Amino acid sequence: MNQIKYDLHCHSTASDGTLLPAEVVLRAKEHGVTTLALTDHDTIAGLAQAQQTAQENEISLISGIELSCTWNKRTFHILGLDIDPNNAELLEGIKNLQNTRLERAYKIAHKLEKNKIPGAFDAVLESAGSGMITRSHFAEFLLKNDYVSTIQGAFDHYLGQSKPAFVSTQWAELDNTINWINNAGGIAVVAHPLRYKLTASWMRRFLTDFKELGGQGIEIITGRSTPDEIRRAAHFATQFQLHGSVGSDFHTPKNQWVELGRLAALPNNIRPIWQLFTA
Ligand code: AMP
Ligand code: MN
Ligand code: MN
Ligand code: MN
Repeated sequence: MNQIKYDLHCHSTASDGTLLPAEVVLRAKEHGVTTLALTDHDTIAGLAQAQQTAQENEISLISGIELSCTWNKRTFHILGLDIDPNNAELLEGIKNLQNTRLERAYKIAHKLEKNKIPGAFDAVLESAGSGMITRSHFAEFLLKNDYVSTIQGAFDHYLGQSKPAFVSTQWAELDNTINWINNAGGIAVVAHPLRYKLTASWMRRFLTDFKELGGQGIEIITGRSTPDEIRRAAHFATQFQLHGSVGSDFHTPKNQWVELGRLAALPNNIRPIWQLFTA
């Protein structure tokens, strides 16, 4: 009997991944994934190609997206899983986020220029191609041109919060984000809940709002979760009666620490998010 393996969070060249959507699907299959969700940042552009490859290779593809959202001046990432990628309201929301991304990229490049780093905007336009421009593209540019020696260094010295090229951005509101997902027949899931570095009380406030507004899931297992992180995230799921999700957040084969399908199991007491998928 073939074992079922889920990976419900990953990226392709439609945003900041380095593999084409088709390549992501094939790589997931090679790593034993049986149900994959492609969740590019603020775009569904990779889904058609991924869906076709998935059908040809007998792997199940869930239509997904990772939406950028602002709540109380902080940025959160909300996954929309099992969405209808043709939903007009969702597409309209995404279009606004895409404009915001382009404007932000322009501002980041301007700040870099003021820090004696010219040429970033043209470079990221080129490297992102038809895909979303993300800070990862700026990080690659800074690395390639020897302004930093690692990708992490690019965030530490330029792109991270309160660094010289950081641009504070108003993304979509949490209520809109969840409504777009729900109205497109999808399931809203808080991505990587431990990465926001919130205090316990801010986390409680956020998850209270998320649940009240119609959010249904929280990511419990990511590509590099430690047992302690799994326990903490699982605790949120129990406390707020959310379903648990699992996703590698795979971006590139160059990162040897994060691989498609390489994921710990959900704790037994957690209701898996896939119970909510429509057949
Ligand atoms: P953006 O949504 O454009 O702000 O870009 C966020 C993306 O940058 C994330 O999805 C990650 O892929 C990447 N990223 C953010 N912080 C880091 C970091 N410290 N090191 C490496 N990649 C990062
Ligand atoms: Mn990313
Ligand atoms: Mn994210
Ligand atoms: Mn992601």
